[in-house]
Amino acid sequence: MNNHFIKLFHLQAFKIEKTELIGEKMIIHCRLKSQRVICPSCGKWTKTVHQYLKPQRIKHMFWQGNIIELSLTKRSFFCWQCKKKGLPWLTLEQTDLIPKKARYSLVWADQVMKGLGQTTFKTQEELSKSSFSTIRKLLASRIDPYIGVWPKAGKVISLGIDLHSFSGVNMIPTVCDLTNGRLITILPDNKQNTFRTFLRNIPKKKKNLIEEVCIDMDCHYIKTIREELPNIRIVIDFFHVVQDANFRISEARTAIQKTNKIMISKRLLEKNKEHLNPNERVELNNIFKVYPELGALWKVKEKIRLIHKNPSTNLATILYGGLIKEMKESHYPSIKQWAKTLNRWQDGILAYFTYHTTNGYTEGVNTKLKTIKRLSYGFRNINNYIRKALLTFIPIGLLLYHYI
Ligand SMILES: [Zn+2]
Repeated sequence: MNNHFIKLFHLQAFKIEKTELIGEKMIIHCRLKSQRVICPSCGKWTKTVHQYLKPQRIKHMFWQGNIIELSLTKRSFFCWQCKKKGLPWLTLEQTDLIPKKARYSLVWADQVMKGLGQTTFKTQEELSKSSFSTIRKLLASRIDPYIGVWPKAGKVISLGIDLHSFSGVNMIPTVCDLTNGRLITILPDNKQNTFRTFLRNIPKKKKNLIEEVCIDMDCHYIKTIREELPNIRIVIDFFHVVQDANFRISEARTAIQKTNKIMISKRLLEKNKEHLNPNERVELNNIFKVYPELGALWKVKEKIRLIHKNPSTNLATILYGGLIKEMKESHYPSIKQWAKTLNRWQDGILAYFTYHTTNGYTEGVNTKLKTIKRLSYGFRNINNYIRKALLTFIPIGLLLYHYI
């Protein structure tokens, strides 16, 4: 075989005896080039071939609808010295290019992995002419969601955590590296212990450099985070404080609609004050005249938004403290309750003004995950979904074997 072909087909380690073409398959009959192995008993080289084994079929590459397979004849080697001493004396030759017990080479594995990053399981099954279970196992051996994929170089200062739904029922957490804008992992469930395992698995070198975690106000991992990463700063994305405000207003609105059998526009209540036109202002004022609690809630939301626009941490702290005090004195229980929540999360919320960390990247990932779920005709198996999703976001270079 011409040298260019040997290079192109990654066959440098093999001695090729012959090739044949059967239908769409090219079969390369070969053995390993190397003439010796290291005897594991004594650690010395041995050149004595004991036996030629029955050829094994190894999937090696796929290309333009064709499969390139190796018909590999492995040899076992014999060590005289160890046989005399009664030690194990037979060694089967191995190559780094083919994982132990695998029926595929790393060239094939990398090809499948690259393909999975771009297309579906089904397409890769067809292209590589292999079964779903083979591909699933290959993927599982490369990606462990409990560890995630961490950048090889550089530090991760901020982590972002946000939940998204799988099959409409289960909420599962997405963990992102906000410093470099990368997905780290998606965990299979939202149990505390799963999250704790992940935090404990963070590579030590990376763990020591993490300074902050950005979460939502409804994040239920806060205790676990504090226990596992005691020196970390927790930042609440301010966007969620506003989102939470809109949620509270919406709840009050729903209650009013039910008791009074009327409709109040949700859009109108969620519109920012500065974007209301004169007619809308009048409309909103009329609603607030009849339902003052709704008006009081809305005013709190606008005050929160105003604090958000404030560039100075000191001023934001003062305004925020003032707002909470004012809310505590309100005669509406809904506002008193709200004040309690804002008070509890105060440190995290105010940390935003110093560090300006937002969880926007994590939310962007969650939005894209929805598209992946749709394109893949839904996933029934959560582990397949997680691994496939990680593969789509994580630079493929971090996952390949780099066999050359
Ligand atoms: Zn030996």
